[in-house]
Amino acid sequence: MASHTIFSIFSFLLGLVLGSFANVCIYRLPLGKSIVSPPSSCPHCGSQIRFYDNIPVLSYIFLKGKCRQCKAPISLQYPIVELIVGILSLALFTRYGVSYQYILYLIFTGSLVIITFIDLHHKVIPDIISLPGIIIGFLASFLLPYPTWLDSAIGIVAGGGALLLIAVIFEKVTGKEGMGGGDIKLLAMIGAWMGWKALPFVVLISSILGIIIGGGALVASGKGMRVKIPFGPFLAMGSLIYFFFGSSIVGWYASLFV
Ligand SMILES: [Zn+2]
Repeated sequence: MASHTIFSIFSFLLGLVLGSFANVCIYRLPLGKSIVSPPSSCPHCGSQIRFYDNIPVLSYIFLKGKCRQCKAPISLQYPIVELIVGILSLALFTRYGVSYQYILYLIFTGSLVIITFIDLHHKVIPDIISLPGIIIGFLASFLLPYPTWLDSAIGIVAGGGALLLIAVIFEKVTGKEGMGGGDIKLLAMIGAWMGWKALPFVVLISSILGIIIGGGALVASGKGMRVKIPFGPFLAMGSLIYFFFGSSIVGWYASLFV
């Protein structure tokens, strides 16, 4: 029992560190920079960030959200991403324990977090994450209890195909490009990891979130339909919600008809 608690704390700390790495990916991948070198530096003054100023969450608090050298504000996004990945890691560990499921799903959910924040900033989902994500998800299906490799393969085709179909119809009807190719590859990746049966729920949850949050953001911005809202973050959130709460949601829905 005590050792389990220690492992749980360790999984949370590991998540924080991986979240720190996720921040590097979010910042550098869209710029085409290496994620391994050079070491992190302040985007404002360029001074290298020392290891003791690079401790997840804590450094942000100690430095009061400012660069030690130039006092330029550090984005609150850094500790937020670290906390999100920390919590995901803890949740996955609680569900799967020390296992390859824990590691594989950490890769999957971590990728979703990186994709979310890159899409929010740049309105693009980098192929360098989604395409390997499709392949790794398919290969993982041979190890994971679910989905089967066939469900995963159908998930890739259905995920890619379903959004492609929606995108084509949307474009035909409105004459505008609604969904980017990035979203299509992302849903193919989600299909690879979660299997095709998860897709209708993921798309439904994502659309509801998109209407509520995206619609709210549109109204708040006052710019109406001229603002382009990225759909990737909603697909990622929808996947995470279904991944962690799917069986409860489906159970609740089924109970309405009993
Ligand atoms: Zn600085």
